Amino acid sequence: VIALDNVHLTLGSGASTVHVLKGMSLEIEPGQSVGIVGPSGSGKSTLLMVLAGLERIDSGTVSVAGAALNTMSEDQAAAFRGRNIGIVFQSFHLIPNMTALENAAVPLELAGNPDAFEIAARELKAVGLEHRMTHYPGELSGGEQQRVAIARALAPSPKILIADEPTGNLDTATGKQITDLLFQTQREHGLTLVLVTHDSALSARCDREIRVRSGRIETGIETDGTDAPAAARIVAVNP
Ligand code: ATP
Ligand code: MG
Repeated sequence: VIALDNVHLTLGSGASTVHVLKGMSLEIEPGQSVGIVGPSGSGKSTLLMVLAGLERIDSGTVSVAGAALNTMSEDQAAAFRGRNIGIVFQSFHLIPNMTALENAAVPLELAGNPDAFEIAARELKAVGLEHRMTHYPGELSGGEQQRVAIARALAPSPKILIADEPTGNLDTATGKQITDLLFQTQREHGLTLVLVTHDSALSARCDREIRVRSGRIETGIETDGTDAPAAARIVAVNP
């Protein structure tokens, strides 16, 4: 279970100080897919960073799989993230002077896994890139780069996959392929999938949609898991 309770977070300093998260509470069940939606600047990416332990909070609690992320040191949080959480970004975040295989192996190598390249190769194959292992990011299409990023995120066998606008830099057809891949891997690995997206085709396929507005959770809407518009059954409203 991922649980946030009354999380407040302020970013920036001086004139650029922003109270980004204003008392956010939510719960995500293991194996659930959740689409986080809401206006630009409402705090969605910041919320993901908090879930991943990449951003420290001012008050409240963040608990992931029974571990209190907000009380961990940065090193502890990094180690916890390495084992439990895979992250995918809109702009892929691949290392330009490393091949697809080297990129996918990075987290495993950092963790000292002796089978890093073997596992990375298996993950690249699983995302359909066995013929692109020695390509550099600059030699790959956007969709292929995102596949490498997904393989890299999944290589350490995390239970949770977090994605910030994973289809945001892709055309509609490629975005659909990446969406299919995300839900296929979610099913195969029994992953908890938490994604931020403006892509309604993507969020409507999630078990649940969470709507963020101005640093607060508006509603959690249970979707029917198809491409049809979300069946609006409200399951949670923040106080
Ligand atoms: P988008 O849909 O455009 O990606 P978002 O919902 O992901 O938006 P966030 O990136 O979480 O929004 O940012 C929320 C708010 O926090 C924004 O108003 C942003 O300007 C502000 N913000 C983010 N980082 C900082 C920072 N380091 N210092 C000050 N303000 C910040
Ligand atoms: Mg964002």
